[in-house]
Amino acid sequence: MYNNHGALTNIGCFGQEDLIGYIGSNHHGTRYYGELITYYYNIDFALHMKPAAATTKKIEKLDPVNDTHDEYKYLHVELCDCEQIHQCFRLYRRFIINDRIFHSLIYKKRGKSNSYFIQYSFDQRHYQFGSIQCFISLQSTEKSYALINVHRVQQKYSDYFKSTKYYDLLKKPLDNYFFVLEKRSCKKTIILIDYILKHCIVFNMSECIVATPVATHNEHD
Ligand SMILES: [Zn+2]
Repeated sequence: MYNNHGALTNIGCFGQEDLIGYIGSNHHGTRYYGELITYYYNIDFALHMKPAAATTKKIEKLDPVNDTHDEYKYLHVELCDCEQIHQCFRLYRRFIINDRIFHSLIYKKRGKSNSYFIQYSFDQRHYQFGSIQCFISLQSTEKSYALINVHRVQQKYSDYFKSTKYYDLLKKPLDNYFFVLEKRSCKKTIILIDYILKHCIVFNMSECIVATPVATHNEHD
């Protein structure tokens, strides 16, 4: 079913409708809503955990910056030893990575779109988060990078549920879906495009950012 229909539980739609239907049809009796919810949440979790193939990403570079600002030139020094910065070093505002569009903060037409906030990982086990400042491409090495404003993980999302009865059951799926990040970026870092995993939906709270990675979604621009 997963393979035929894609992520059934993409942001939980299928699972939740199913769950609502099930609860709806059971409103005469069951008092086990908590168990049902955790049961479905864990199915959801299992489906999402299907390992993603880690391959070299297909990249399309959009919107080059013609007049590269001096503030970004230090990046070439960090990434490359060649002396032809003008031929070698290019900044881009948008990249299409494996058919998904990613914006950067220097792309001014992004409106309210959050498609510049991403989850990335060097080992597919430890996840990191941040906003894309810009994309970089080097001609001499043919490598592409993103400059990331890193937002560190502040605490586990499940910590908010420590006092509830279902903490043990919910802990794993909650911490897989939701990440509590520091509101302020602690540093900038350069990563290879291949380490970018997913867009995130971001909730700006007063003390933190809550980010939830998006598995699949439709692109508009
Ligand atoms: Zn170079």
